[in-house]
Amino acid sequence: VDGPVDHKCTSSSLAIKLCGHFKSGEAIDYFLKKKLRVWCWIPAGKWECGKIQSASANDAHVLMSTGNVLRFPLENIWPANPEVQDNENDLALLSYINEPSFLHNLKYRYSQDKIYSKAGPVLVALNPFKDLSLQANNSVGENPHVFAVVDQAFNEILRGGKNQSIIISGESSSGKTETAKFAMQRVVAIGSGDVIDFEVLKENVILESFGNAKTLKNGNSSRFGKLNEIYFSKAGKICGARIKTFLLEKSRVVERAVGERSYHVFYQLCAGAPPCLKEKLKLKTANEYEFLKQSRCLTIDNIDDSREFHLLMEALDSVHITKDDQDSLFSMLAAVLWLGNICFSTITSKNQVEVNLDEAVANAANLLGCEVDALVLALSTQTTQSGNDNIVQKLTLSQVIETRDALAKYIYATLFEWVVVQINKYLQVGKNYSGSSISILDTCGFEVSRKNGFDQFNRNYASERMQQHFINHLLKHEQEEYTLDGVDWRNIDFPDNVDCLNLFDKPQGILSLLDEESACSKATDFTLLSKLKHQFLGNPCFKGESSSFRICHFAGEVLYNTSGFLKNNREIVHEDSIKKLLLSCGNRLPRVLGSLGSLTSPMQSAATKLKDQLSELIQLLENTNPHFVRCINPNSKQLAGIYEEDFVIRQLRSFSLLEVVRIARSGYPTRMTHQQFVERYNFLLMENTPVMDPLSTSVAVLQQYSVPPGMFQVGYTKIFFRSGQLAMLETARACTL
Ligand code: ADP
Ligand code: MG
Repeated sequence: VDGPVDHKCTSSSLAIKLCGHFKSGEAIDYFLKKKLRVWCWIPAGKWECGKIQSASANDAHVLMSTGNVLRFPLENIWPANPEVQDNENDLALLSYINEPSFLHNLKYRYSQDKIYSKAGPVLVALNPFKDLSLQANNSVGENPHVFAVVDQAFNEILRGGKNQSIIISGESSSGKTETAKFAMQRVVAIGSGDVIDFEVLKENVILESFGNAKTLKNGNSSRFGKLNEIYFSKAGKICGARIKTFLLEKSRVVERAVGERSYHVFYQLCAGAPPCLKEKLKLKTANEYEFLKQSRCLTIDNIDDSREFHLLMEALDSVHITKDDQDSLFSMLAAVLWLGNICFSTITSKNQVEVNLDEAVANAANLLGCEVDALVLALSTQTTQSGNDNIVQKLTLSQVIETRDALAKYIYATLFEWVVVQINKYLQVGKNYSGSSISILDTCGFEVSRKNGFDQFNRNYASERMQQHFINHLLKHEQEEYTLDGVDWRNIDFPDNVDCLNLFDKPQGILSLLDEESACSKATDFTLLSKLKHQFLGNPCFKGESSSFRICHFAGEVLYNTSGFLKNNREIVHEDSIKKLLLSCGNRLPRVLGSLGSLTSPMQSAATKLKDQLSELIQLLENTNPHFVRCINPNSKQLAGIYEEDFVIRQLRSFSLLEVVRIARSGYPTRMTHQQFVERYNFLLMENTPVMDPLSTSVAVLQQYSVPPGMFQVGYTKIFFRSGQLAMLETARACTL
């Protein structure tokens, strides 16, 4: 290594010594002192590989592939890994840990359709935007794969370990839902029990119909988060499952960006309903419904909505939703569509709003099973109680529209809940349940749209909470544990999102201000904004603007428009009259829906409800051993074979992958208390060893088996091991037993 090196390969021992211990510049210094010429990554517009020719204290002359020699500051240059490592399947095994090296490695693998890589404990999955047969291939061997993650989780359960969770995150269109489906397939393949026709996969068809929609970024975007818990018997067979959903985007039912669609199920129903059903629901084509046609997008390329409707009906059959219930379900969907066609006229002389008594209102009332008058009354008036008197107040035009939309959203959201309840009834836990489960979480990803309102605000708040769980688990608690137990450890900095989270949910945070304003009848979206601006003046995560505010999220800045915030947060204001109407309906399903909403506390605002739901979810995850899968969207065009570096870098950063890998590399992922260690390995000691305290016994075992001192650390209560170190002791144990 002291002589000149003219090719990209460095000796592996040197590479190991350098592992992760150098920042940019440092490693290059090291090489230069040794008079080596090195390959490195140069920020020449995009990252390019160049070769250092000479360097001074601050900058270097680099020979570029074009033959030009250019000068760059040392701090912008990163050492490149030897070519033999181009295909390394774990970023943590690269000789040099830096952003351009990660970017290059993932790109190289992507170009060979190797979409899965490890980053220490995390599985990284790039969206291939094309079918790869390897995903169906069950023998994954040594290669990183979502199947391998499932297998690992499954083995831990068989060993009697903690319950497991597989947490899949990433931005919209990065492949979370597809990855979650692969994970489910694998779980079913390895754990399918005596019930051969286990229908846990069919639920996907139903939930996608009701919870997915075409957005500008993804033709089949999930507009809700989903946790799939799968329960196992002692023998490791699936014996039931449960789905939890959260954060369904309700506003989509009544409005959305041009070029996007509402939920698939509406278009499927319009296109695929058999004639008798069409007749019964007075169904028209999608382009005759205001709620659907407004965004000027009715079809999706290569998708046949009519065929999808038949698949949906099959799936509903297979989870035992009766034909009667299916009919009621479709009636509710049609009712929502007809609600959107209800029109209003203003009678200027009386300064009043009238509901037009046309087919829309008649059909909606008929499908709900209520009188037209009752529907009209619920839409156009508000009843408040004053003492013993009911005061009936006529609503203004904007209020009437707001109420109609609130009714449509309420019906749809509770219908979605109802469907989930029915699926869960079918999947319910069998009697062999051992208490073990694997949960697969398909989170709703961080999202920035052209116009970000209350839904994006909630979604991104949820992403922050999930990010915090990730950080806590892989970065924060890990290092805290070393320090607390007295392990010699140099702390690795990481971008913590705690400040941004505090901005949301600490007392006096945005959520509490939002609730305060929502409770005040005089407040408007504008007063809310000025309160926020006043309260968070100078907060580095918050920037107020004229009609909006900006939040610096872990994954980037987002501009939120406050218009509609109070209305959406209050939702409950309308809920009273909506529930009353539904509970009075002649048909059964609307009455069920009317009572569903009351499961949650009636006084809760939308934001508080979400906060509680997320706390419950995180609590559930905290009780499991998590496996993280980070999905990456390789390009903004949703096309195969394109790798946009800037696009990927942004995502790598938001996942803190560099930090995760650094900690994984220098960290000690396996640990045991002194006592546990002694209980497990004590008997391996040679017979004449004197009886000692647990710590000394542990050290004696380690010495006897020549575990090198750098490979473990002794803490106050635990012994910490680098990865793979216990394998030898386990082998010795297995041979002796
Ligand atoms: P997300 O849930 O993150 O928004 P999806 O899972 O819906 O993203 O993926 C978006 C689209 O990308 C899918 O509809 C599919 O066409 C494609 N895709 C994603 N993951 C894969 C994969 N592993 N193999 C093939 N295509 C994929
Ligand atoms: Mg999705």
